[in-house]
Amino acid sequence: MFESLSEKLESAFKQIKGEGRITELNIAATVKDIRRALVDADVNYKIAKEFTDKIRETALGQKVINAVSPGQLMVKIVKDELVDLMGGTESTFNTKGNPAIILIAGLQGSGKTTFSGKLANFLKTKKGLSPLLVAADIYRPAAIDQLKVLGEQIGIDVYSEPENKDAVAIATNAIKEARSKNKNVLIIDTAGRLAVDEAMMTEVANIKSAVSPNEILFVVDSMTGQDAVNTAKAFNDRLDFSGVVLTKLDGDTRGGAALSIKYTVNKPIKFVSSGEKMDTLDVFYPERMAQRILGMGDITTLVEKAQAQFDEAQAKKLEKKIRKNQFDFEDFKQQLEQIKKMGNIKDLLGMIPGVGKAVKDIDISDDSFKGIEALINSMTPQERNNPDLITASRKARIAKGAGKELTELNAFLKQFEQMKEMMKMMNKMPMGRMGLGRK
Ligand code: GDP
Repeated sequence: MFESLSEKLESAFKQIKGEGRITELNIAATVKDIRRALVDADVNYKIAKEFTDKIRETALGQKVINAVSPGQLMVKIVKDELVDLMGGTESTFNTKGNPAIILIAGLQGSGKTTFSGKLANFLKTKKGLSPLLVAADIYRPAAIDQLKVLGEQIGIDVYSEPENKDAVAIATNAIKEARSKNKNVLIIDTAGRLAVDEAMMTEVANIKSAVSPNEILFVVDSMTGQDAVNTAKAFNDRLDFSGVVLTKLDGDTRGGAALSIKYTVNKPIKFVSSGEKMDTLDVFYPERMAQRILGMGDITTLVEKAQAQFDEAQAKKLEKKIRKNQFDFEDFKQQLEQIKKMGNIKDLLGMIPGVGKAVKDIDISDDSFKGIEALINSMTPQERNNPDLITASRKARIAKGAGKELTELNAFLKQFEQMKEMMKMMNKMPMGRMGLGRK
């Protein structure tokens, strides 16, 4: 995410790294490079200029502290300004009401329907709410089916009236349905158009007046850069929405939308969506995003993702097994499964400071573990629980069953042994307990 921007900012900071202190003269090139990096990331020129003017002013106004080098100081100043540009603190999300009503708007293809499903899943699993999804797209029957498929996947009911051509009536009927079925949050997925269009705006505005939503979320494809910002402006002028959702952050997006939207419409980004799977939705934190842009990683999100997957009892059991040197292939397989559930592997690696850049050009897919899983699956339950059983003749059978060469199995067995050794060593250290699963 935003790799090119990160790289260009890093090289801008290099310009000033060797200097003893910040002066008008030596800051000029850095500031110019930062501005160019932002413009290249599709940030509007006016925003980029204002941003760098502020950076220059702040940097020149700083007292010289010996402990901090000009390079470090610049990184800190830029980080603070990035946080500010993206909205400062985390925004709120209002789900009070019976039911609370969330209206979803945006262009066709922006990711509205996918996001509606993800939000329902998020509110159900993370907030303990009971959502009802509403298909209010009266033009595309396929949109209703799409929402139903998603609803089924995540175990959430979908309300629709395929024969009704009145989106306002569908939305108001859905409120009654929610009350009668004890659903406490209604997520209304509206119809989009390929471009901003008066009839579409009127329809969504009419739904808004009829249902008085707690939140109106404007969904926008982050890959569309400055166009995203213009569309946001048009929707906000008409709907006065409460927050923005940036989708497709898993793609090759340059960052322009994330950095310019708050400035342009003065509404916070509330969620970011980064994948087609239903659990790839994150609350937006300006601070964490700024850290990622500056290559500082995002350990907080990584730890939260881990905590959400690893349960305490299981972690304790595992810890005990490791201490007794009984960690086996079955445990290993379970760990792999949990890691996969945390999300896209490359994305996860990007949250570790410095690693994102290192793995940028390496092809790491979620299938990377497939070979290892095939080998473990080819073992008998006894072999999985007792790795010592794996003799030469068994090895041939396991490799063959997994469709792998014997050398691949041997390499894996060796890695597994090394990993166990490492675990043993870590456990002998006073602070060596892994602490997974602590909430
Ligand atoms: P809508 O027309 O606004 O309802 O958009 P959809 O929800 O149908 O999404 C349009 C396309 O974008 C679909 O193919 C989705 O699978 C895809 N999509 C939606 N959100 C994301 C995302 O965060 N990442 C990626 N890679 N694809 C997404």
